[in-house]
Amino acid sequence: MPRALEHPPTMRAVGLFGLRDLRMIEVAHPGAPGPGEVLLRVAAVGICGSDHHYYNEGSIGGAIVGEGMIMGHEFSAWVEAVGDGVKGLGIDQLVAVDPEIPCGTCESCVHGHPNLCPANLFCGSPNYQGSLAQYIRMPAGNCFILPEEVTPAEGALLEPLGVAIHAVDLAKVKVGETVAVLGVGSIGLLTAALSRASGAGAIYVSEPLAYRRDFAVRYLGGSRLPTEVFNPLSQSIVATILEATHGRGVDVAFEAAGASCTPDQAAQITRPGGRIVVVGIPSDDTMRMTASVVRRKGLTIRLVRRMKHTYPRAIQLVLSGAVDVAALATHVFPLENTGRAFEVVDRRSDGVIKAIVQVNEA
Ligand SMILES: [Zn+2]
Ligand SMILES: [Zn+2]
Repeated sequence: MPRALEHPPTMRAVGLFGLRDLRMIEVAHPGAPGPGEVLLRVAAVGICGSDHHYYNEGSIGGAIVGEGMIMGHEFSAWVEAVGDGVKGLGIDQLVAVDPEIPCGTCESCVHGHPNLCPANLFCGSPNYQGSLAQYIRMPAGNCFILPEEVTPAEGALLEPLGVAIHAVDLAKVKVGETVAVLGVGSIGLLTAALSRASGAGAIYVSEPLAYRRDFAVRYLGGSRLPTEVFNPLSQSIVATILEATHGRGVDVAFEAAGASCTPDQAAQITRPGGRIVVVGIPSDDTMRMTASVVRRKGLTIRLVRRMKHTYPRAIQLVLSGAVDVAALATHVFPLENTGRAFEVVDRRSDGVIKAIVQVNEA
């Protein structure tokens, strides 16, 4: 039964008003859910590299921030109210929320690729309210009930885990294959962990930040296989990984740094016939690879656009213990301190892997 909704006319949110200018604002409450929708009381929100692009650059590849844009797309929430026709979701249930609302009728959607829908709405982008707010309205189909064992912070981390699942799906990692991961922010770490869970052999990691290298060693260790973590600023990553693989190169290279040099490094370190999966978002919106290298090796290059159909699998992976998402949540801030969360992410200070904003308490 939809419960009658009484709510104040406004709610608290965090708006982006210009480069690095975040403000607490009062905005209109999203109101009662329409048919097929739910009203959600936001629990935990992860700060993503893409949020940081908006914060620091004001746009991502033509998607430009409007004044007061509310970011936030990695989130969990409690169901506050359900609209007509919504089945299977109860009031106060904790859910993880897929932030993308595809149109459902275009060629991409009909062919099972909602992540490629050109008409999609996406939480925390210029076309849809984000979750750095007390409440948000979403289609019920975007909500995935979390088992009791899963915390709100873990629920928020199912979004980046979904992106990593999609990356590993595209790579088709086979048991025993060698893998390189260039860049170990959250997505790189999760991609490496999922590669290991998929049966990968040796995993080679490149990361310029010392604290992230240390984190990666702890996070990915515990196997007799080497997880070798290199600093690309002090050694040639290409020479080092080629040497480590006796000149052959790896079967699969994941580019998860979004740096200008990493796509080409991925090409150089991959064996003939191997696969490259590009996950990172470059700040200058340009990707460079040496044509003769990718061409002569006949490499398969795949690009990650968000994810599709990954939430049920993400929940299984967390429950099975195959991937530890809780360990990535190194920092938690209340909504009022969202600016502080972005500063920590921006400065890559204090050992931050994933900063979480706790918007409401249970
Ligand atoms: Zn994200
Ligand atoms: Zn569509």
